[in-house]
Amino acid sequence: MKLPPQIRFIQRGWFNSNNILILGDDGPVIIDTGHEADAATTLHLIAAEGIDPHEISLIVNTHCHWDHFGGNRALKVISDAPLATSKQTAAIFAANDREAMWLDYFGVNFVPETADLTWQDGDMVELSGLPFEVIAAPGHAPDTILFYQPDHKLLISADALHEQDCGVLNVVVHGFGVVDSALTTVDRLLTYDIELALPGHGPIITDVVGSLAALKKRLAGFKHDPRRLAYHLARRVTMAALLESQPIERQNFISMVSELPWTRDYAPLCGYDDREQFVIDRLAEFQIRGLLRTIENMLVSNVQR
Ligand SMILES: [Zn+2]
Repeated sequence: MKLPPQIRFIQRGWFNSNNILILGDDGPVIIDTGHEADAATTLHLIAAEGIDPHEISLIVNTHCHWDHFGGNRALKVISDAPLATSKQTAAIFAANDREAMWLDYFGVNFVPETADLTWQDGDMVELSGLPFEVIAAPGHAPDTILFYQPDHKLLISADALHEQDCGVLNVVVHGFGVVDSALTTVDRLLTYDIELALPGHGPIITDVVGSLAALKKRLAGFKHDPRRLAYHLARRVTMAALLESQPIERQNFISMVSELPWTRDYAPLCGYDDREQFVIDRLAEFQIRGLLRTIENMLVSNVQR
């Protein structure tokens, strides 16, 4: 199945969330707005789709992470569009709940806009005239909502489903129960007739059942061996930190990352007691996989930002 023409998918990298635009008579709706640092690029990419960002009529965030809400302010300023989120996300934003947003934990600092309207599981919402079912999808983030469009059998899957994967599971902040929540979400999504999924990161998913099955297997692996889960998070978060700080002197990067709260918790879960060595080994792994280059002792990622 092809993407319907009124839905546009802007694929970003692992630093920015993808942006999804829904076009119709009520004005364009944007779902997830990327990172604050790349807000100008986000506006350009929207314009490159032939959509005037000033005309955006509604901003939607799937969950409370900064790589999904960072463009909200820039878009609100120029369009005056309201922000819609889940009830849980709205409460997190209103309270500026830095723990729920993982801000101090990963060493970043953002202040979200507050939501103007809220949705919850089971709501039917019209996004620029197109009806969607709201599906709560706890796991990666407890406040996540997804959007299912039955006529096009299309799911906006945020970080609950990437291609054969999902967003990191932060068992230290949320407890190990998030693995079961993610599994429950996968089982629930398997009950829907989905031909196309538009994820929060990575490419459009065309084999949705295959991707859900692969994710289920991965999650079962995490349950069986928590070290695999910790490595999954460590790789993603180290790469995100590099994308954020690049180009950065190698030792600066190692020192910076090894002092963040998440390495305190996840290095031991990966079997390390030396946090610097934990970071050094992740960089070595990136180097071997061609995900990283070093230019005069400065680290630069080869992954799309
Ligand atoms: Zn996320």
